[in-house]
Amino acid sequence: MDLTAVQGVRVARSRADLALDQGERYLAGGTWMFSEDQPGVTGLVDLSGLGWDELDVTAQGDLRIGAMAPIGTLERWAATATFPAAPLFAQCSESLLASFKVRAAATVGGNIVRAYAASSMVALAATLDATATIWHADGTDSVVPVASLPTGNGTTSLSTSDVLRDVIVPAPALTARTAHRRIALAEHGRSGALLTGRRDPDGSCTFVITAATLTPTVLRYPAAPAPDELERDVRDAEGYYTDPLGTADWRRQVSAVLLAEVREELAS
Ligand SMILES: Cc1cc2nc3c(=O)[nH]c(=O)nc-3n(C[C@H](O)[C@H](O)[C@H](O)COP(=O)(O)OP(=O)(O)OC[C@H]3O[C@@H](n4cnc5c(N)ncnc54)[C@H](O)[C@@H]3O)c2cc1C
Repeated sequence: MDLTAVQGVRVARSRADLALDQGERYLAGGTWMFSEDQPGVTGLVDLSGLGWDELDVTAQGDLRIGAMAPIGTLERWAATATFPAAPLFAQCSESLLASFKVRAAATVGGNIVRAYAASSMVALAATLDATATIWHADGTDSVVPVASLPTGNGTTSLSTSDVLRDVIVPAPALTARTAHRRIALAEHGRSGALLTGRRDPDGSCTFVITAATLTPTVLRYPAAPAPDELERDVRDAEGYYTDPLGTADWRRQVSAVLLAEVREELAS
């Protein structure tokens, strides 16, 4: 949609250009920014001039994803990768209620910073213990787990002037086997619950609930949990919520059923 209050758009080409004036907001792929009214936004700072679309494997084997990497590009890149966790990338990309056209424009960073409970890039990152590099307006940087960024359905701990620079997936997580389940009330609806899991070569397991809880729920076990232990932990998790995409009780129930399937798949 046309953002009629926007007076100007400038393309950032350096860190100095990221300093926001009153009313300015960062623009990534624009798929959310131009999808609804943006009260109070009078200017946009386009991040596309920064060249932040890296998909690099570091010397340590970590995967570095530039914040401006389109989700569709990450999906295609992972399709050619050979590490065991590679299938999770496509599964999470396809978990968005978005066509390939939107996935070609929407960025990994934009999806994480928008931080809807149904953000499947948050799900991917949380399952693989990824960290986010944040650039602050005072020139300092910080590195935080992506799973810790959302504070609610569409809110984060970031300030308006914080910039997500990149996402780092540590090498050990890429060697894990992963599994994925998703459910929505409508056939083509936004995720009501997104359940992901990973089993590391040492047998330790991580299970993640997103879309069903307001913020990511990360459950960790030194070895595969017994079915009743996992079910109890899923049912006891906090943050199940009710909205038009599902009730809290339904979200709790489907999370328990589908994470049991994830557990079984990882155990096989
Ligand atoms: C058809 C459609 C379907 C969708 N389906 C889903 C869905 O199923 N699940 C879901 O979670 N979301 C969904 N969304 C919303 C989705 O989260 C966003 O459209 C998309 O992921 C945002 O990415 P973008 O690159 O287009 O960001 P933009 O729209 O450009 O920006 C999104 C927000 O993030 C900020 N931002 C972007 N990049 C950075 C950065 N590097 N640092 C700091 N701030 C930044 C912007 O200022 C803005 O506030 C959907 C949107 C559409 C239009």
